[in-house]
Amino acid sequence: MSTGQHEEFDVVVVGGGPSGSTLSTLVAMQGHSVLLLEKETFPRYQIGESLLPSTIHGICHLLGVTDELAAAGFPHKRGGTFRWGASPKPWNFSFSVSSKVSGPTSFAYQVERSKFDKILLDNAARKGVVVRQDRTVTDVVDDADGRARGLRYTDPDGTEHEVSARYVVDASGNTSRIHKRVGGSRTYSDFFKSLALFGYFENGKRMPAPYAGNILCVAFGSGWFWYIPLSSTLTSVGAVVRREDAAKVQGDPESALRGLIDECPMIKEYLADATRVTTGQYGQLRVRKDYSYHHTTFWRPGMVLVGDAACFVDPVFSSGVHLATYSALLAARSLNSVLAGRIDERRAFDEFEARYRREYGVFYEFLTSFYDMHVDEDSYFWTAKKVTRSSHAELESFVELVAGMSSTDFDLSDAESSVLRLKQQSAEFADAVDDMAGRQEENMAPLFRSSAVSRAMQEGSQVQTRAQLGEYAGEDVPLFDGGLVASSDSMFWEEPHPS
Ligand code: FAD
Repeated sequence: MSTGQHEEFDVVVVGGGPSGSTLSTLVAMQGHSVLLLEKETFPRYQIGESLLPSTIHGICHLLGVTDELAAAGFPHKRGGTFRWGASPKPWNFSFSVSSKVSGPTSFAYQVERSKFDKILLDNAARKGVVVRQDRTVTDVVDDADGRARGLRYTDPDGTEHEVSARYVVDASGNTSRIHKRVGGSRTYSDFFKSLALFGYFENGKRMPAPYAGNILCVAFGSGWFWYIPLSSTLTSVGAVVRREDAAKVQGDPESALRGLIDECPMIKEYLADATRVTTGQYGQLRVRKDYSYHHTTFWRPGMVLVGDAACFVDPVFSSGVHLATYSALLAARSLNSVLAGRIDERRAFDEFEARYRREYGVFYEFLTSFYDMHVDEDSYFWTAKKVTRSSHAELESFVELVAGMSSTDFDLSDAESSVLRLKQQSAEFADAVDDMAGRQEENMAPLFRSSAVSRAMQEGSQVQTRAQLGEYAGEDVPLFDGGLVASSDSMFWEEPHPS
């Protein structure tokens, strides 16, 4: 039974991670009342430390935290260094040679999420969001017509409260307990079914300048490692391995991680003089599994899913926080447009869902090609990650995911032609990596010309350009027939102007 005073807001948001704080801030900035409920007290630990430029220079710019992030001293990430593919030599993927992401905004940060997420949440409170921490949301409340109308939550002394809102947003991440209330279900990916074991080290080796801040990803027989510099001495190190190795990893994580490091000469060398952190927020080894999934629907009247509550796919290209904050921007545009009476609800949220699915689909395909590129015929992990091993069920689930998208984006006429197209895309990507890695001077042009990469960078570049240039960015274009466009300040949806 609920007790206490009954409250009413325009929007109530569950979760204070990047998706929840981004959406809340962008809606509160338009003068709407927003309540954000977070079950932990920040700063709190979270994985997902390697970011992309569109988050920093696009969405964080709109949120108004650019200077604060710059002052936080996070390492600059110029790109990624990969020991991956056919060549035994590591190659670099730099953000700087993209024609769209260039100059002073061609970097991202490697962040300690406890610090980054607190900056975004404190900023939300400063921008007018009512932030309540240490509050656990337990359920969604519907009205008699089946429309979501509010939430139930408990406060630290166990008192239950009910709050009403015109919209409920689930931004509570992969552990969301209310995502099912949107209808549909979570569909897990077979292809990306892996497990991650990770911890933190002091005094690991750094790559030479200018790559010292890059994420390093190293493929080896049992899977691949990430190696993320979080300061001049602290490094986040994680192994992604087969889901079937769960018992081994959970039984004795310490010796499992040691064994995996021993299997991977490059990571072993980088950690030769390092010591594992064993106290504080980084003191324990952690395991995450079943993290690649999408929900079959992202909204219903009165309720929206954003960030990991809706979907996530594989950490190798650092797309998690990008998708979380990008989906928050899309949903904030829909909420702002509907609350201001500018656009009909269905139109606004169909636009949100279609754009979000498209971006998730683009990264899903890009990552499929990324895995397909690596050559190791003796490894169970790597042979299982070949495009030709995509199961029929996996493809069907992908078709369901991107259903309704324009056919030029995703040609999915049947399973066989889909596999053929993905194989061609992967081969083109692998050739581009070979071409780029074989050049004397760093030149990203071949990579950015390959369709997998250019599509993965396209929407992020748009968000970034619009956030930086506003009306000088020119008019947005609809992504679909009959679709809407972003307003010049990025905060609303509009009908496209007649040309
Ligand atoms: P979260 O960050 O999970 O935030 C959700 C918040 O909701 C939490 O603070 C939680 O306490 C709160 N909450 C949960 N339940 C309730 C409740 N009932 N009531 C109130 N509050 C609640 N992404 C990257 O960009 N780069 C990377 O390098 C990267 N590496 C990754 C490695 C691994 C192994 C994995 C699994 C993921 C990785 N990610 C990475 C993904 C990244 O962690 C997520 O995409 C990102 O954190 C999603 O943000 P979010 O705001 O949606 O959710």
